[in-house]
Amino acid sequence: MNFKIARKYLTLTLLIALFLSSDAPTIPNTVMRIGVIRAIPPTFITIEQTEDCRQEEPFPQNNPLPYYTHATQTQFSCDFYDKDYVAWTMFVFYELWEKEFGDPEKKVKNALDHLEIQWGEERREVHNVYDINGNFFESSSVSGLVEGPYIVWVWAEDKISNTSLVHELTHIALMHVCGSADPDHEGDKFACWSEEHSSFINDVNLKLSTIYGL
Ligand SMILES: [Zn+2]
Repeated sequence: MNFKIARKYLTLTLLIALFLSSDAPTIPNTVMRIGVIRAIPPTFITIEQTEDCRQEEPFPQNNPLPYYTHATQTQFSCDFYDKDYVAWTMFVFYELWEKEFGDPEKKVKNALDHLEIQWGEERREVHNVYDINGNFFESSSVSGLVEGPYIVWVWAEDKISNTSLVHELTHIALMHVCGSADPDHEGDKFACWSEEHSSFINDVNLKLSTIYGL
């Protein structure tokens, strides 16, 4: 799907969602039951076939993501996740990021274009991390990590919106536009991450879950 169509589709579906979530009394009762309607994440149609996960081959497998030029996901199972769903998550993230924070030099877009997402089967025990409020822990079990300017590791859960993917994408975006991934989040040891970023993540995940079932 080309960008313009995808964009139009997103705008349209967001508008529909907005309309459905409104309590406006003008909505006639004959409209389909609220809560039942859910948009299906689109299938990206690319000029060159994007290779699929291969069930019969060994794991972990690094497979390309559609729409993005160099983005890939490293999978421990073909179930985590459908390449179109992952690409759509990144697409929705970017649309909303650009709307909220802008991306004049396309640095965030470029980072997503080169991203590798490594899906993990289990949480990971790591040292020297901060929680969302900037509290330091010498050791902690985490559900996601930034491994480099273009690499994130994310613990796979049932739904993409339940994982820390959007949270890690926010670290990546800040790394490229602000100069630091800001490991202590809302804490004051590192600049870049603010309350707006925390609520942005909640908004994106809520949209992914309620509109697309992701
Ligand atoms: Zn974090």
